[in-house]
Amino acid sequence: MDRRIEQMKTEGTRFRTGVAVGTDVTWEQLRRRYDAVVIATGATVPRDLPIPGRDFDGVHFAMDYLVPANRVVAGETVENQIHAKGKHVVILGGGDTGADCLGTAHRHGAASVTTLAIGKQPPAERAGHQPWPTFPTLFEMASAHEEGGERTYLASTVEFVGENGKLTGVKVAETEFVDGKRLPKAGTERIIPADLVFLSLGFTGAEPAGITEQVSAEFDGRGNVTRDGYYMTNTEGIFVAGDAGRGQSLIVWAIAEGRACAAAVDKFLMGSTILPAPVAPTDRAIAVL
Ligand SMILES: Cc1cc2nc3c(=O)[nH]c(=O)nc-3n(C[C@H](O)[C@H](O)[C@H](O)COP(=O)(O)OP(=O)(O)OC[C@H]3O[C@@H](n4cnc5c(N)ncnc54)[C@H](O)[C@@H]3O)c2cc1C
Repeated sequence: MDRRIEQMKTEGTRFRTGVAVGTDVTWEQLRRRYDAVVIATGATVPRDLPIPGRDFDGVHFAMDYLVPANRVVAGETVENQIHAKGKHVVILGGGDTGADCLGTAHRHGAASVTTLAIGKQPPAERAGHQPWPTFPTLFEMASAHEEGGERTYLASTVEFVGENGKLTGVKVAETEFVDGKRLPKAGTERIIPADLVFLSLGFTGAEPAGITEQVSAEFDGRGNVTRDGYYMTNTEGIFVAGDAGRGQSLIVWAIAEGRACAAAVDKFLMGSTILPAPVAPTDRAIAVL
């Protein structure tokens, strides 16, 4: 396997893009070979919705739809691609991932695309209790939304329905608050026809495979790799930056963390650094709840 690491060094990015750290080469091997290793593998574990009918053919995690679709656009050949042409598509979750599913389904020629969100429709303008520069909760109109599709709020998905193992619809209910929790309201259920459902309900953290067993890096209760104030995990010389340490976030944070982590690694290796560290691992957008 050490030979493989040598290959990684000599063959450059063409080879490196195909290496799965943790399996093709272990984190421990990398750590032995290099004085510092940065885990920047993102937060890719998707949040599931374990309700009746979850196993029906047609219910997919969003990334299982989006990644192959991107590969096809990039000119690769993908077998068994999930394709939305002529299909009724329901997207669960109204965030960036859901918007990407929406745009992709339209480009595939879906018969209809409906996005369901359990919360209420956010206001179009910044609410008084979220003044600048706090991060406001707003009704977002991404370019994908401008292209069409229906957006339904306050919709709780209670069941996937189907026939012979194949998805035919999504049973949703209106919601009501009971004891501070938003719950499905009895008697309001209806079925939305669906051939495909994409679960874009967020991510529960970094993929742990290999990281814990191979270099004993710990995870916190939110599924993120823990780090100290200098981006180092509990294992000396192993650092973590981006979504893997912060949780699913935004590209600007990943860029800023990458730079700050580089400075931390430089200081670890050289004893001091002049590199900029634009953010600390604990920094967050200013929010008013
Ligand atoms: C569908 C979707 C839409 C988004 N839209 C937006 C948006 O519009 N605007 C915005 O600001 N942010 C958006 N985000 C969030 C943004 O993409 C992330 O916050 C950002 O990319 C995190 O950067 P990162 O470098 O930490 O991780 P990533 O960008 O996730 O990069 C991780 C890399 O590590 C690789 N990798 C993972 N595991 C291994 C392994 N074991 N071995 C080798 N390589 C590995 C992956 O293939 C990937 O290339 C979106 C996220 C998703 C999922």
